[in-house]
Amino acid sequence: MSRDFPPRCYYCNFNPFANADSYERHIVTKHVGLPGYPSPGDLRFHKLTPQNMYWEKTLTDQEIMERIRMYTPVSERIKHYRKTAKPTREMWS
Ligand SMILES: [Zn+2]
Repeated sequence: MSRDFPPRCYYCNFNPFANADSYERHIVTKHVGLPGYPSPGDLRFHKLTPQNMYWEKTLTDQEIMERIRMYTPVSERIKHYRKTAKPTREMWS
């Protein structure tokens, strides 16, 4: 399982943190308004050093589709299919 907080602070290199709570308290109080879990765009924009954490990754098209599938309720997917696709046998099996 991957860690849910980085080994050190992205902004001042402070470390180590005992847990995600103490990391977030540090970010919120010392680095007001800056992202604690920077995305690829945040890393570029703030010129941060990556720490190999999962939120720094750019998702592949396949990972994006998996997440859409995971987080979209079935009822919404059916509505979408009805609007965009001709029904096929596979869709309903
Ligand atoms: Zn810091």
